[in-house]
Amino acid sequence: MSKAVVSSLYDSDVFKMACRQFDQAADAISLPEHIRDRTKYPRRSLSVSLPIKRDDGSVTVFEGYRVQHNLSTGPAKGGIRFHQDVSIGEVAALSMWMSWKCSLAGLPYGGAKGGVIVDPRLLSESELERLSRRYMQEIAPFIGPHIDVPAPDMGTNEKIMGWMMDTYSNHIGRNEPACVTGKPISLGGSQGRREATGVGVAYLVKAYLADLNLPIQSATVAIQGFGNVGSEAALALAGYGAKIIAISDYTTGIYNPHGIDIKRALAFISSQKVLRDFDGGEPITNEELLTLDCTVLVPGALERVITAEIAPKLRCRILAEAANGPTTFSADRILEQREEIEIIPDVLCNAGGVIVSYFEWLQNLQNCYWDREEVLQKLVVILDRAKSSVDYQKRKFKFSRRLAALTLGIQRVADAKQSRGLFP
Ligand code: NAD
Repeated sequence: MSKAVVSSLYDSDVFKMACRQFDQAADAISLPEHIRDRTKYPRRSLSVSLPIKRDDGSVTVFEGYRVQHNLSTGPAKGGIRFHQDVSIGEVAALSMWMSWKCSLAGLPYGGAKGGVIVDPRLLSESELERLSRRYMQEIAPFIGPHIDVPAPDMGTNEKIMGWMMDTYSNHIGRNEPACVTGKPISLGGSQGRREATGVGVAYLVKAYLADLNLPIQSATVAIQGFGNVGSEAALALAGYGAKIIAISDYTTGIYNPHGIDIKRALAFISSQKVLRDFDGGEPITNEELLTLDCTVLVPGALERVITAEIAPKLRCRILAEAANGPTTFSADRILEQREEIEIIPDVLCNAGGVIVSYFEWLQNLQNCYWDREEVLQKLVVILDRAKSSVDYQKRKFKFSRRLAALTLGIQRVADAKQSRGLFP
């Protein structure tokens, strides 16, 4: 059987990590050779150059990407990241994880991801709007409600999704809210979408604590990243009665063994933009945060922060992967030996975001809108189902929880490809 001829286009540590995870899962379920490479590699990718007029009249050209990993199980779905370290390899890895995540949750979607190499904090609001609109204009022929539906990710938010939806709608000449999710409510966004990822993380943490007979009221939690996902997870966990002992952003970590007042931290962020100088606890480094003694550790920022050096030092009972790909492949090998740590793998842990994005898309297509309670009720039904299927697969085959989640996600994508056959 001939192997795929793969270019070095996606070459990066994070893409290699996603490929190693895939290979391990494909071996574990004896995925037939003829379907492996078709399931593994991205279907197509687009690179765009984005010239933007700056406020001072000069022009800067940014670079962006959109990678569609899999279109066999429905329109592709995945966020758009604005970050200075974005690469096409990272976007490709994130698009693979979106495929497995959507498939694991039983959503009628393939996987995709987008990214622009930019530090959005260095742009004025009007420059950010021009960049967001230009990016959407460039990828517009490549996306759409039945082709590929973007959403927010790191560095992007509701406001940016609103500009993108407006740009796409103008491009095709009619209102098309279903072209992106994570929009403002006034443009057809869903109730509950903003908090969905963090609420989903908190819900699963509560469920796994209950499985371990650990009362959430005595749980301590450390959270890396205080953006959309980290802050919403902190609020929801604090709402359940857990004590949030550490939070962080790219400027600092904050530690308070008596519990951080999350609402105060959010008010501080909304005026100061960053956690630096927040007086709700002692400053600590991000590395110190990851190795704190706590019941639950939530990496909720970047990928590959839990390395082989950090893994032996973790002192948590549950590792809840709110970020995508926070644990390196070699760290994972170490954690598999540390049976005292329960891992909620990213493709399950942060699936709440794409599940409510799916609800938003459904509401847009039907022009029929649900209230927040209905959205969150439907969210937990899907999360419970995904959690049960992962835990059943784990028990049945004696897999790690990550391997259980990945094998379920990968198998469903491979089955769809197999059933569709090879064209022509
Ligand atoms: P965000 O941009 O809203 O927030 C990111 C946070 O991480 C910020 O607080 C930022 O300061 C912090 N951060 C950045 N670099 C850091 C560093 N080196 N050390 C510590 N903190 C750092 O992004 P987000 O939407 O919350 O996404 C966070 C993670 O969750 C990403 O991995 C993303 O792919 C994943 N995710 C997001 C969603 C979603 O709905 N937004 C859904 C699923 C998964």
